[in-house]
Amino acid sequence: MKHAYKLRAYPTRPQEGRAVRLLADHCELYNAALQERREAWRRHHRSISYGDQSAQLKAIRAADPDGQGRHSCTAQQQTLRRLNASFGAFLKRARRSKGKARRVGYPRFKPYQRFDQVLFVAGNGAKWQPADAGRWAHASFQAVGRVKVNRHRPVVGRVKTLQLKREGRRWFVILAADIEAVPLPATGRSVGVDLGVARFLTTSDGEIIANPRFLDAAQQRIVDLQRRKARTRPGSGNRSRLRRTLAKEWRTLRNQRRDFHHKTARGLVDTCDSLALEHLRVAAMTATAAGTVEAPGRNVAAKAGLNRSILDAGWSQFTSILVAKAASAGRRVILVHPAYTSIDCHTCGTRCTRSRQEIVVCPVHGELDADLNGARNLAARAGLGSGQATAA
Ligand SMILES: [Zn+2]
Repeated sequence: MKHAYKLRAYPTRPQEGRAVRLLADHCELYNAALQERREAWRRHHRSISYGDQSAQLKAIRAADPDGQGRHSCTAQQQTLRRLNASFGAFLKRARRSKGKARRVGYPRFKPYQRFDQVLFVAGNGAKWQPADAGRWAHASFQAVGRVKVNRHRPVVGRVKTLQLKREGRRWFVILAADIEAVPLPATGRSVGVDLGVARFLTTSDGEIIANPRFLDAAQQRIVDLQRRKARTRPGSGNRSRLRRTLAKEWRTLRNQRRDFHHKTARGLVDTCDSLALEHLRVAAMTATAAGTVEAPGRNVAAKAGLNRSILDAGWSQFTSILVAKAASAGRRVILVHPAYTSIDCHTCGTRCTRSRQEIVVCPVHGELDADLNGARNLAARAGLGSGQATAA
């Protein structure tokens, strides 16, 4: 099983200079290889394979000992593979549109400032050195050096690849590690989990996890900053300062939210054998928020706010974190088709009415907590019984 870690790296000034050069050299290689493919295609309608290009690396490296020759050969192969992948995608699109008037986008040359990552195979020009104690680990890259890395969470498993990546002024090391699943002891608890708007989640046995408070506070700060930025003159120093502050707020929010998702998912995986969740299509949901099957014809203003809450809650990120944690702990996650799970009564199956976000009303059983009802329907649909705690 694969697991990815994205960690902030802190190269020294000289290391950063060499890393920039590494990206530039790889960009040059990428563009040269693209050039070769373009010509072959234009002149002879012939496609050049990854193998053809990889076989030339030896000669290229020998001819340029102070440039291409300094870099890891396997990393260069990865860059050629990357080009190969974008070509594969292009050829597929071209085949599909044959005979149609539509033009198919040919892979493009990358400008230096947009070429922002190089992939290394561990043990071939790159090495991961975990931290002994504390949070500082190191990653070594050929032609760059031994770079300090903030290991903000423990790296588990055997590191297979290391990616050096630039994002604006920041540097990151992305590790892909192989993890063996370590099954946790059985707990006897199996629940349905409803992800909601008013609360972050509700389980079918009644556990409630509220939306974290930082969301509201951050949203308020972001709205304020956006308003202030809108009042500044385009191109002014004030505006670019606000833009940076805004970007920082967003970054903080994303990090806090990811952290919250990890902790919440950890808690569920530690205490449950099986978990049933909605099979999410958040994009589809927000697109059709003008009127869903379950809540036709609500007023538009409320929907806009609801929409934003849905996106803010970050359900899809949470779901994928939960699925990954469950897999590495030998737990079962069942993704359930969510049609009517929040609107049918979990006891009698009758279609309820939903006049407010948090309550559904069954004609037989009266008012029900909408999220709890949804969680119990998910549990039942996944074959986990009612998912309610059984009295001991
Ligand atoms: Zn009922």
